[in-house]
Amino acid sequence: MKSDTISAIATPRGEGGIGIVRISGSHALSVADAVFRARSQKALAEAASHCAVYGCVVERDGTPVDEGLALVMRAPHSYTCEDVVELQCHGGQSVMRRVLARTWEAGARAAERGEFTKRAFLNGRIDLAQAEAVMAVVEARSDRALKMAQGHLAGHFSDRIRAMRHQILSMVAHIEAAIDFPENEVDDVLDVDLTRDITRLAEEIRGILSTANAGRILRDGLLTAIVGRPNVGKSSLLNALLREERAIVTDIPGTTRDAIEEYADVGGVPLRIIDTAGIRATEDTVERIGVERARDYAARAALVLALFDRSRPLGEEDEAILSLLKKKQAILLLTKADLPPKTTREDLLARVKAMGVVSASGSMPQVIEIAAQAKGGVDRIGFDVLTDAVCRIAYQDAAEGDEADFVADARQADALRRAEEHLRAAILTMEQEMGLDFVSIDLRSAVEALGELTGETVGDAILDEIFSKFCIGK
Ligand code: GDP
Repeated sequence: MKSDTISAIATPRGEGGIGIVRISGSHALSVADAVFRARSQKALAEAASHCAVYGCVVERDGTPVDEGLALVMRAPHSYTCEDVVELQCHGGQSVMRRVLARTWEAGARAAERGEFTKRAFLNGRIDLAQAEAVMAVVEARSDRALKMAQGHLAGHFSDRIRAMRHQILSMVAHIEAAIDFPENEVDDVLDVDLTRDITRLAEEIRGILSTANAGRILRDGLLTAIVGRPNVGKSSLLNALLREERAIVTDIPGTTRDAIEEYADVGGVPLRIIDTAGIRATEDTVERIGVERARDYAARAALVLALFDRSRPLGEEDEAILSLLKKKQAILLLTKADLPPKTTREDLLARVKAMGVVSASGSMPQVIEIAAQAKGGVDRIGFDVLTDAVCRIAYQDAAEGDEADFVADARQADALRRAEEHLRAAILTMEQEMGLDFVSIDLRSAVEALGELTGETVGDAILDEIFSKFCIGK
């Protein structure tokens, strides 16, 4: 069946050097020919695939909308595996809207969110894990996050899942042969081998699952609060982490800047920092971070960076900050390490101990001395150690090192967890000698769960949910 033809603006909203309207479907070429006049007067339907044609997008009566290029990519060698034409024009909002409207007048319909990528999946060019990686590539906020997304897009993760699925299917084939031909009496050998192989696979899945937390952090960012009393150096640290010196939106009086979040790339781990605007508003006493606000940030955060001024003695406000850290994952930072010390690491740790502040993992928090401001030829101090500490926290559960193999999201983790459960059930069934046909049922359920990752066994509702998270035009 031929699919209908869809179109959408593929470039971001707003002004840009170039804007692209993408058309895909069996009538992509005729739609494009109805709106585009090549300078050469030749129809796009006759243009070679993967060649750019110079010309003009025109109104129905021939008046020009904008000049530009048409890029023809014929099925199946295109993003969607269908005929695709991309119209590249000037990237203005009015131009783009008019070009898009012209494609609709010529018979295309508006693409839904993620519909181009969904077609690439439905047409078999990429599997579901790869399709999900498309958005992860677009949204990657650090180089490690990008590495994970690219690894998934290239199919490394899917290959591994498919290999496991294949192994289980061949076990099922063996078992079913043994059930059908019991006279072969292979049962004993089969039992030993099967239990060993299923256990190995369950362990492999557990190893992959151990990366789920790190994968989620790479994808969504590690929700981080920077807390400490006024003047301790919060905004200086934030600026250093964001590697930019100018504070944001200081010239708009009276605006609420509460909801601003920023991502800092720390050693490839994206830190999603809560309320950066509040942290930065240090000149404004009303907006100065009070303990109440710090309490709220610390409660929400997965990681708390708690700051203490090394150039001053510890005070009551510092104790109030310390009290927020009970049962939290925190790194203690002694700031202004370039100045003569009044508070040492030992002083701080003694106070931590006296107050009974233990981290979520039950251990003493790490203390790092830093200087966020490089002044008078002095470099920043302590940022390498801080980077290592952040990476260790982000990767703490991950048994495997390569981001390309990390579990990228909750849906994948859930399917893997179910696959592991079915394999463990199969082992139990073997041990209790409940019969091979029951083992086969457990194994088939594991195959089914693994198939959800790559999309072999997944329903329309889940597909719709996945692609609804995409942007229009992707
Ligand atoms: P906040 O109120 O916690 O956001 O603190 P700020 O980042 O605004 O810093 C307060 C003051 O401490 C400013 O005058 C900074 O210049 C100074 N400061 C911050 N970090 C350092 C540092 O590493 N070394 C030195 N010497 N001064 C710093």
